[in-house]
Amino acid sequence: MDDWQLLQSYVNEDSDAAFTALVNRHIHVVYSAAIRRLGDAHAAEEVTQSVFCLLATKAKQLGPNIVLVNWLYKTASFKASRHWRGDARRRRREQEAAMMSIGASSDENSIWQQLAPHLDDAITALGEQDRIAILGRFFERQAFQEIAKSLGVAEDAARMRVNRALEKLQEIFGAFRLPTDLTLRIAGCDGVANAWYQRGQITVCYEYLNVIGKNSPQETTKDGISPADAMVGQFFYVFAHEMGHAMFDLLDVPVFGRAEDAADQFATYVVLQFGKDQARRLILGTAYSYKNYISNTTVTAPLAAFSDAHSPPPERFYNLLCLAYGADSELFADFVSEGYLPQGRAQGCRREYGELVYAFNKVIGPHLDQRLARQVLQKAWLPDDKTKPPPR
Ligand SMILES: [Zn+2]
Repeated sequence: MDDWQLLQSYVNEDSDAAFTALVNRHIHVVYSAAIRRLGDAHAAEEVTQSVFCLLATKAKQLGPNIVLVNWLYKTASFKASRHWRGDARRRRREQEAAMMSIGASSDENSIWQQLAPHLDDAITALGEQDRIAILGRFFERQAFQEIAKSLGVAEDAARMRVNRALEKLQEIFGAFRLPTDLTLRIAGCDGVANAWYQRGQITVCYEYLNVIGKNSPQETTKDGISPADAMVGQFFYVFAHEMGHAMFDLLDVPVFGRAEDAADQFATYVVLQFGKDQARRLILGTAYSYKNYISNTTVTAPLAAFSDAHSPPPERFYNLLCLAYGADSELFADFVSEGYLPQGRAQGCRREYGELVYAFNKVIGPHLDQRLARQVLQKAWLPDDKTKPPPR
């Protein structure tokens, strides 16, 4: 019997044997999809079980055109990435920049919706390495098409720009003297829009690039944010955030407070060291990625959205604005005058930025090649001020 006949037998005749046959036939696909994402046998078993439970409850609703193995694979991947989110050891890898917690699942859904029609038997039947490579290329193409569309350029030009941006980043980060090599790379991540640092390597997924492309405006906004600024801003920020994690790790920097907030602060600081024009464009571009979170003055979110290792997106938005305003209250005066940054927070931002400058100079400064940094940024990279900020 084929899958559909077995399903019918289960639905209409309540046949346990038919269901067992389905489980035996497909358990390998489900389990391997789960373990690849989770890397943990126990967790993969839990996911496998829940996938077949869902199949049992949904069996009636599945139509005759369903390719069951695709449905199972997709469901397993989706459930595994959900499971993943709850796994503290993996937290850091999850949703690094703007997109997380509140509404993160819709990003994930949209990625799977894109992928679903392409995930046919042929892909599923391939060996794991081949399959990952094919999915990687699929998302790579998607990412560049999305970026090309936003920038109004051809796909090849979009590729060239991304490569140039990556080279530029490598050059900028080359000014940090690190005990080991650090590589920045963009890679396919099996359908998950993510970014992470792992000893010696920063990875940003093509899937993430795809989301950045989608998160950019089609034309310059009324606040003067161009599609390119939004894209480069987000692109730069996510790498700089991971660079923060890398610094804390490789330079053995103890972090008080939350590591994710510290990585955000590191990224914001780096962005603010560019010339005024560039710094402003990059900050605005990054801020744009939060637009969905701040479009309403009231936020409704599930309680669990506040449990993440990352601060909730609206908070990250205000932190970004505050540090920028604290660094240069003239350049970013409109943050306050336009009502983006409330007065109550704004008045302490100079102090907040001062604390960041002090921390950066003290712990990162000694590992920075000042001459190279100046060359790269074509301006003074670090403020000379090493005065300790007054206690609060
Ligand atoms: Zn992080």
